[in-house]
Amino acid sequence: MLRVGVCGTDREVVLHGLGGPRGLPEGSDYLVMGHEAVGRVVEIGSDVTDLEPGDLVVPTVRRGCGECVACAVGQADLCYTGRIKERGIVGLHGFLSERVVDSAEHLVKVPRELQAVAPLVESLTTPEKAMRRITNARAHLPDPAVRRALVTGTGPIALLAVLMLRLKDLETVVLARQPADSVQAQLARQTEATYTELADVDLNQPQAKLGGFDIVIEATGAAEMSVAMIAALGQNGVLDLVGGPSDRRPVPIQASSLGAMVGRNLTVQGSVNANPDDWRRAVADLVQMRTRFPGVVDALITHRFDISSFDDRALTRVPGQIKAVVDISE
Ligand SMILES: [Zn+2]
Ligand SMILES: [Zn+2]
Repeated sequence: MLRVGVCGTDREVVLHGLGGPRGLPEGSDYLVMGHEAVGRVVEIGSDVTDLEPGDLVVPTVRRGCGECVACAVGQADLCYTGRIKERGIVGLHGFLSERVVDSAEHLVKVPRELQAVAPLVESLTTPEKAMRRITNARAHLPDPAVRRALVTGTGPIALLAVLMLRLKDLETVVLARQPADSVQAQLARQTEATYTELADVDLNQPQAKLGGFDIVIEATGAAEMSVAMIAALGQNGVLDLVGGPSDRRPVPIQASSLGAMVGRNLTVQGSVNANPDDWRRAVADLVQMRTRFPGVVDALITHRFDISSFDDRALTRVPGQIKAVVDISE
C-alpha cells in the first residue's frame, strides 16, 4: 500500500464500531482500518491476466453477501440482504497496512499520475453513483438535461461532487457553512461554481435566494439540511442524499414540501457505495479534473501523516481540513 485516506466513517468505526458482533473479521479481535487506498501490485496469481506487478491500483471496499441477485452480478452497492462486508469498516481488514491481498476483480487500475491523490477515488465514487441514479431518475423527462445543480457541504465528497458537475459544465451552486473566504469556498470558486454561505440563506425558503435547481446533491448528512433541500428543487427536480443521519431525533418538515413533491414531480432519493462502473468513471474523471482545474484536486488533501507516527491526530478533524491521508510508502 502507498497511502490511505481517512474520513468520517473511520471516526465512526473508532468511536462506536460498526456492524455489531459481525464488525470484526472472522478470527480477529481487532480491525485493520483504512478503506480509501492506493497501492502498487507486487505479485499476482497465475490466473490474473489484466494486472501486472508495478501497476497502480485502488481497491474497492464493499464485498458482496454471496446470497442475493445484486451481489451475484457484482453490484454489492445494491445488496438486498444487507449482509455485506466492507474492508476496513465492517467484517474485513482494511488497507492501513504495508501489504494486502485481494482478488483482482476488486482492484481498479489507476494511471501513475494519480499516485498522490488516488485515495480520493473512493470519495469520488459516491457522487459518481449519485449522478448515475439522478440521471436514471430523470430519464423519463421530455428534457432530461440538467441546467442548474446545487451541492450542499464542503467535505471531500461535496467538493468532488462540485468538480464532477463542473467537469460536465453544469451551472453549480455550493451551499455550506464555511465562510466565503475559506479554503473550501475558494476551491469551489476555482471551478467556477458559485459559493453561497449558509448564513445568507433562509432554509425555510431556500428558493427565494438561490432559485430552483434541477438536481441537488446533499452531502452534509445533516437532517435539517436534507429536509430543507426539497424546497430548493425546481420542476421535476431530483434530490440525492449521500450522507445519512442515523439518530432517532425527529426533524420537522414543512407540509408544503410534501405538497411540492407532488405538485412539482419531485424525486427524493438516497444513494450509497458504488458499482464497478462508478469506480472506473471516478478514475477517468479524476484525471480530467486535474487537467481542467489545475491544483484543485491536489489541494483537497490538506493533511498528511506518516504511518510510523499514526495516532489520534490523523483521526481528529481540525479547521481547514478537507482530506487527511496517511502515507505508508512511496
Ligand atoms: Zn471514507
Ligand atoms: Zn447481497
